[in-house]
Amino acid sequence: MGDPVVPIYASVCLPWHRPVVENILSLKQQRRLPHAILIDTKSDQDGIGFLWHLMTLLLCEASTDISACGHCQSCRLMLSNTYPDILYVTLLYDIKNKKINKNIKIEQIRELIHELQLTRRFDNLKIAAIYPADKMSIQGANSLLKTLEEPTSHTLILLMTHNTGKLPVTIRSRCQAWSLDHPALATSLEWLQQRDMNQAEAELYINYSGGDPQLALRLRDAEYATLVDQFKQQFALYLKNEMDVCKLCSGLVSIELWLVRRLIRMVVVAYCYQLTGLNTKGEKSGTVRKSAAQKILVLASHLDHQLQVEDNNLNLQIQLEDVLISLRQIIIFE
Ligand SMILES: [Zn+2]
Repeated sequence: MGDPVVPIYASVCLPWHRPVVENILSLKQQRRLPHAILIDTKSDQDGIGFLWHLMTLLLCEASTDISACGHCQSCRLMLSNTYPDILYVTLLYDIKNKKINKNIKIEQIRELIHELQLTRRFDNLKIAAIYPADKMSIQGANSLLKTLEEPTSHTLILLMTHNTGKLPVTIRSRCQAWSLDHPALATSLEWLQQRDMNQAEAELYINYSGGDPQLALRLRDAEYATLVDQFKQQFALYLKNEMDVCKLCSGLVSIELWLVRRLIRMVVVAYCYQLTGLNTKGEKSGTVRKSAAQKILVLASHLDHQLQVEDNNLNLQIQLEDVLISLRQIIIFE
């Protein structure tokens, strides 16, 4: 196992990440850096750029403000991804199965622990980063626990994930926790408008993304609004029995899977509100259809699991048909 092409990571620090970076850097300057830090990225978008930025900054010998100098030995080694005292563990590409592993394996964690105990090459921090940390196998998390309990000096363990709830409490409780919260709406809209969106588009996409500007940008690039409009029209025909479920789903399976999941979830959640008589702020706005409400909440709670198929294939078509038949049944007959 191993990645056939080793990616080169680059630093990324978005404006709303600044407070967390400043705080952690300040701890380092005061020599109060904890042995383990857990960062909740809040966004499920790729966070390796932030992780690299933070590590570069912690290692930089001449940082100013929250920017690494870019010239010192540490910065140069970080830029070329060859800093010797960085241990980075992530999901590996499995050549045999031609896909990314689902878990960070115990062997990877054991190797990290072993490396952590070796003498550091430079008179600086040694950093072990695990991302996405929630993907550690149970055994992996258990073996890391001992290291968290008995930390070695001059080392920092950095765990990062957007699913902190999936990490064992025993791990969470041994880390200092930080969170990269989404920015305020005005900041998001301004940031998106600097990226070639007009006000209306920015408002639409920040709404679709649940307040996550990075996701909003990615959805715009995938022309998600067009997909939503098309799907709404077809779904209306399907409800009126003017389009069959097979045709409705065959259009979906050619779309990228993460978009399909998002689209279906959005529709189901919208009906959850409607059938439980609430508006999107959770206030009472209509009549509750009790039986339908109970059934759609069950459907919603199983949705992620049901659509957790791996590829756009026959299996996805079957799962989608199953969900949409149930949804129609609830909306029309319950
Ligand atoms: Zn530097």
